[in-house]
Amino acid sequence: MTNAYQLFCYLYPQLMVEKYQVVIGLEVHVQLQTKSKLFTGDSAAFGAAPNTNISPIALAHPGTLPMMNKKVIEYAVKLGIALNCDIEQHNYFARKNYLYPDLPKGYQISQHTTPICKNGFVKIKLGDGEKKILLNRIHIEEDAGKSLHDVDEHFTSIDLNRAGVPLLEVVTEPCLHSSNEAFAYLTEVRKIVRWLNICDGNMEEGSMRCDANVSIRLKGDTTLGTRVEVKNLNSIRNVKRAIDVEVLRLITLVESNTPIIQETRSYNADDNTTFSLRTKEEADDYRYFADPDLTPFTITDNFLTEIKSALPELPEALEKKYTAVLNLSAYDAATICSDKDLVNYFEEIIKHSSNTKAAANWLLGPIKAYLNDAQLALHQFNILPKTIADLILLIDEGKVNFSNASTKIFTALLVDKEKTPLQLATALNLIQESDTDSIEAWVNEAIAKMPDKVIEFKSGKKGLIGLFAGEVKKISKGKADMQLVNKLLNEKLN
Ligand code: ADP
Ligand code: MG
Repeated sequence: MTNAYQLFCYLYPQLMVEKYQVVIGLEVHVQLQTKSKLFTGDSAAFGAAPNTNISPIALAHPGTLPMMNKKVIEYAVKLGIALNCDIEQHNYFARKNYLYPDLPKGYQISQHTTPICKNGFVKIKLGDGEKKILLNRIHIEEDAGKSLHDVDEHFTSIDLNRAGVPLLEVVTEPCLHSSNEAFAYLTEVRKIVRWLNICDGNMEEGSMRCDANVSIRLKGDTTLGTRVEVKNLNSIRNVKRAIDVEVLRLITLVESNTPIIQETRSYNADDNTTFSLRTKEEADDYRYFADPDLTPFTITDNFLTEIKSALPELPEALEKKYTAVLNLSAYDAATICSDKDLVNYFEEIIKHSSNTKAAANWLLGPIKAYLNDAQLALHQFNILPKTIADLILLIDEGKVNFSNASTKIFTALLVDKEKTPLQLATALNLIQESDTDSIEAWVNEAIAKMPDKVIEFKSGKKGLIGLFAGEVKKISKGKADMQLVNKLLNEKLN
């Protein structure tokens, strides 16, 4: 009985999914990788012993004055440009007043009516095409400290190292309509903040955090439904899972005529459920006002131009260049451009090799496979891009074949960093014979060995060419340049 009932509860909302449209708006906090905090000189580094990166200014002790970190403005503008935003040139900071244990000064310095970036969009790729996710704004704010509930049995501990660390909050319009879109959007945002080198994008460590606002409405409705906001999502995958369970919960509520209340919920990844943290029946009253300790600031045209010209080529443009100019496949171009480290390595190979396709194949084939197996990141890989270019050249010149290069020589290079691919190929006896005379002799020998097969070949069994090639390989002890062998075999047998 219980099981049948549980099954019904599980299936019923799934059956109702077609009736509703899901509406999602995402708030992403991007923690900036600056040396010091937003308004003080103390270190913004992650992972220091609790309460060691703090100062009277970060804690707003009486008589202290905050001072703006110019790097933060630069990073905000960079992200704004990369995400197609309008940049607000006249800015001020506001105090957002609320009291919370991890915010002992009683207010958070944020931006209120003048977010530094407005509008903008993030392009995402979906199975069936592209979609622009519209941004409402990006604003600068300081982070709060962190409450730790697992240090002491009876008390909550507070670590204020994070208090005052700079954040950019990226807020979308309520324009996403599935958990898959949310997944693609977050993957893209993470790619871009990493690309710009402003944040490590690590959701597990909290340097990129996402709150998902979710509501449902009947298909065709134009007004928004009541939303719930889900917090504590520590991976992109968990954002997707949390949205999925939340949508089913909302559908169940609506289908049973239970009103949805606007509330903040928390996601529990262990059992894939959400639970209520607090209801938000009345609008929060933060009593915003301009921070009297900080003067308004202007972003000059010069500053904007400087940042624009220093911006690295963005992944989308680079991907286009890789397919259109370098002739890479769309898949290879997208894979390389998903990660700045891959791009850098690829660019280094092609500085020394004009065979761009081979460069992509090596990077996404043997190199990536090796790194996956060894569980290493690309920056820990110890073969230089120039060496890979040398190896590509050896193959292109017919001196070694790809199979030997990608296994034996590659493995030898990992161990022996001093030697060149040519030296290793020679030492391993892998240099192919590409002297036409010796190859012709081997080819003749193979053909002479199998007169009956020659007749079969001539009567149409063209697949036998492989048999002759294999024989030449054997006679030459694997040293014949097989491209040349195949060419000669074809000439002689036809
Ligand atoms: P707050 O700061 O109080 O959370 P905002 O108005 O800034 O509120 O909105 C936060 C996010 O919630 C935005 O991404 C917005 O698109 C999204 N949002 C607002 N209303 C809805 C709704 N009804 N359904 C889904 N998302 C919503
Ligand atoms: Mg919110």
